Amino acid sequence: MTIGKMFKSITPFVKPYKWLVVGTLVMTFIGSLAAQVNAVVLDWTVDKINALIPLGEGQWGEAIKILTLISGILLGKEVLSAVITFAQRYYGERMRILVSRDMAQAVIEKMLTFRVAFFTADNNEPGRLQTRIDRGVESLSNTVKNFFIDILPQFTSAILALILMYAANVYVGLVATCIVPIYFWITWRQAKKLKGWRVGMRNYREAKSHGIMNIIESITVIKSFNRERIEGDKQLDLQNRLTQNQMATRRLSYLFDGLKSFVEQVGTVLIIILTAYLVLSGFPGMSIGKIMYHVMLFSNVSAPIRQLHRIYDDMNDALIYAEGYFDILSGDSEVEASGSYRPAEVRGEFELKNVDFTYPNGTKALYDINMRIAPGKITALVGLSGAGKSTIVNLLDKFYTPDSGTITLDGVDLRDWDTQYLREHIGLVLQKNHIFDGSIEENIRYGKPDATQEEVIEAAKKAFLYDQVMALPNGFNTKATMLSGGQQQRVAIARMFIKNPPIIFLDEPTASLDAIATEQIKSSIDAIKRDRTVIIISHNISQIIDSEMTYALRSGRVEQSGNTEEVYRSGGIYKDIIDASARSLNIGKIADLLDDGEINRSVVVQDSFS
Ligand code: ADP
Repeated sequence: MTIGKMFKSITPFVKPYKWLVVGTLVMTFIGSLAAQVNAVVLDWTVDKINALIPLGEGQWGEAIKILTLISGILLGKEVLSAVITFAQRYYGERMRILVSRDMAQAVIEKMLTFRVAFFTADNNEPGRLQTRIDRGVESLSNTVKNFFIDILPQFTSAILALILMYAANVYVGLVATCIVPIYFWITWRQAKKLKGWRVGMRNYREAKSHGIMNIIESITVIKSFNRERIEGDKQLDLQNRLTQNQMATRRLSYLFDGLKSFVEQVGTVLIIILTAYLVLSGFPGMSIGKIMYHVMLFSNVSAPIRQLHRIYDDMNDALIYAEGYFDILSGDSEVEASGSYRPAEVRGEFELKNVDFTYPNGTKALYDINMRIAPGKITALVGLSGAGKSTIVNLLDKFYTPDSGTITLDGVDLRDWDTQYLREHIGLVLQKNHIFDGSIEENIRYGKPDATQEEVIEAAKKAFLYDQVMALPNGFNTKATMLSGGQQQRVAIARMFIKNPPIIFLDEPTASLDAIATEQIKSSIDAIKRDRTVIIISHNISQIIDSEMTYALRSGRVEQSGNTEEVYRSGGIYKDIIDASARSLNIGKIADLLDDGEINRSVVVQDSFS
């Protein structure tokens, strides 16, 4: 990204505030004129006082008049400057705040349109993304502010001062003009040298954010394994590299700053010598006051250049972070694809033909998958962890697209389906469902924002959540994040009940629940399963045993398929899993222990629901 490109990209965010821009520009012009007043007044005063010296005692009356006049002018100018500075700062800050709000919102809205692959890509972990966005918005909006309250006024003042210098004397103007490019050159070298370090700094900062987030998220595991020291050391290593980088950056900066101060002083000395020479050799229009006049004007010319490295620093920061920010904002290739197919009715018949799939990080998860998910039936996906079951669900929900092969729903390629419409008709319950920051009611309503109170209650009842919610002091207004894992799972199931979709994907829906909850949820899921297309992934035999079709996967390939009986009889991974589950459950002993009453009671639970 270049400075020009960055300003071009920022322009649309500043455009809505063009009146603020116009106001600031007017202020800038007045402010720049006011900045030259000191030099003019000093020039005039020195010459006037100088002329009074030969008059001896008799000059006091005249001197007081001069001093009163310049005091008035200088005080008046200070008042004007104070008002202008205030207005500039206030409007500049106002612009920064507004632009920062718009930029943050724009990137959030853009990111929401991205496909899931963007968020699981290696370089886009939450901490990194967050830093990229925060820093991008912060440094870009600061650039807008600095441009209007710093860069623009300083440079306008410098140009005005330079014009005045030329008007006073061409040679003096030329000396000032010669110093400026040297200054620019040094600053440019400084910026170039620092760029590599700054990119490194950005990476370290992102990694640091990511590391801190990781620690917070995994604090229970860290503590239970007593790994505080190891985690601390991991961060220490990063901190050390960040510190080294910072030190090197500062060292370089201070070195160049010294060099620039020296060049500025050389410029001032040259101006003094030249003006003194012109005065002494009786050059027309040159008087002793001009020495002060030129030095002050030169100081106005060099002021922004003195700040140039800081402006350059800020600009470089902005350039680095702008790239990250605008990459997201212009990441149209990441936008989720959608077709326009929106049929009146969704039957729910999926067909996968020769599907291969690789995750963005290069993990190949599926090989030549052929599958038919019958409408209105229950299909179980079985296999060991990592076999690719969840990946299939990810593909059917259009979270990812296959590398090759086709997936159709009701005979139409998934790519042609309107993505939002498709997802409106799919209910997804995962092992760990995300509960949003909000009340239980808000979390259930997420499945259908316009649901009535009765519908929320009905959904909670079906998910066996209602009684538990009513026992809480705040009922449905309780914060959902305060609920236990099992209760949160019921909230997620209630959310699906209220959505009432014709297709349901259940990915280990009861894995984190206790036996009673599992039984209750199985009952409620059994109820919703009727006449819908259901895909269930579960390690719980009871949930997969009554599926009408089973696909057994191993290492990303379908190894077996058919009804429960066929698949079991043909041996292989399915039989291994079922046998191992039965053994781990110690079914024989449990059967001996159970009395008829117990078995009957579980039947009653199911019947009472259906
Ligand atoms: P299962 O659901 O059968 O346990 P998955 O479908 O979750 O298995 O995973 C299949 C393979 O894909 C595994 O090797 C897993 O590590 C990998 N995988 C799953 N999710 C991702 C992801 N977001 N990025 C990269 N690889 C992934």
